[in-house]
Amino acid sequence: LALSACAGGGAGSGEDDGGGGGGDTEAPEEVLVGVAMPTQTSERWIADGEAVEAGLTDLGYDVDLQFGNDDIPTQAQQIDQMITSGADLLVIAAIDGTALTSQLEAAAAANIPVVSYDRLIRDSENVDFYVTFDNYQVGVQQATSLLVGLGLLTEDGSEGEATGPFNIELFAGSLDDNNAHFFWEGAIETLQPYIDDGTLTVPSGQTDIEQAATLRWQQETAQRRMEDLLTSTYSDGTELHGVLSPYDGLSRGIITALQNAGMGPTLEEGLPVVSGQDAEIASVALIDQGVQFATIFKDTRKLADQAVTAAEAYLAGEEPEANDTETYDNGVLVVPSYLLESDIVYAGNITSLLVDSGYWTADEVAAGV
Ligand code: BGC
Repeated sequence: LALSACAGGGAGSGEDDGGGGGGDTEAPEEVLVGVAMPTQTSERWIADGEAVEAGLTDLGYDVDLQFGNDDIPTQAQQIDQMITSGADLLVIAAIDGTALTSQLEAAAAANIPVVSYDRLIRDSENVDFYVTFDNYQVGVQQATSLLVGLGLLTEDGSEGEATGPFNIELFAGSLDDNNAHFFWEGAIETLQPYIDDGTLTVPSGQTDIEQAATLRWQQETAQRRMEDLLTSTYSDGTELHGVLSPYDGLSRGIITALQNAGMGPTLEEGLPVVSGQDAEIASVALIDQGVQFATIFKDTRKLADQAVTAAEAYLAGEEPEANDTETYDNGVLVVPSYLLESDIVYAGNITSLLVDSGYWTADEVAAGV
């Protein structure tokens, strides 16, 4: 990295961020940050990528933002390329949390700090920091929203009026994504007492995460599995009351399968309760219309801010501040983490959580795009 005395007139170059101090700080324009996001098929990752890019650009860094198309070799190649181009830091949301070991070895050999973004990179000692949400708690919230939808709990957490018994089915995310296991664990531990006392039953008997998993979080895969479950388990008239879904894309696939089988089309007309995650606009609109019951709002703007803050610390030769140093064991080390909190979105709090915070406009909620 060359030191440059001439700032070159870039947008944030006049800003004094209070760091540095000495006369020999590097001109920010010379710093390159590689940002590797998994896919553009889900809007959250596009928003994440753009927000991280904007935050880093505001600080005067150059940014190489790439999306991996949900394809492991593509993402590996993108990261290799970032390292070859002289990246000073990497922010990575992995497609497969275990598939980047050789890239991370190359990064470590070149002294490039690696910030694992949202999804933990596993099986490598070369992960420096992890920014994410409290993923176990996200799973707890998903299950909680299902219990609220069934009437077993109220939105404020007290016992609901319903007594059941209810039939539910369970969906999990992609097993190569470390988060999928945390969501599942949080959800299942929340549902287990109700399963144990007979309030909830899973008529298909598919209660292992392997059976419930959805490779690469694909909507069509979830829709197909829901169709199969309806055929195998519900064609004799057994009633289905709720579905645990860990991501809005899956939720919409599941809802399509249910509606195609003649259920609903709204909750009021008997559509089973379906949970979600990410507050994607299409799902927020469905919640508003009384079709999907709930989702989990993870404010990706805050996550992007944390990634930018961590990057800034490393690039100033400092360590970012962790608020959790116990939870995220990646198989080789416990990665210092910064965890953010999430919220359950119901029809009644769309405005206060999503519109008032500027995440979506009321028009977007009405239009679903
Ligand atoms: C993220 C979720 C997202 C899922 C599918 C997970 O790693 O934490 O927010 O729903 O991937 O993209």
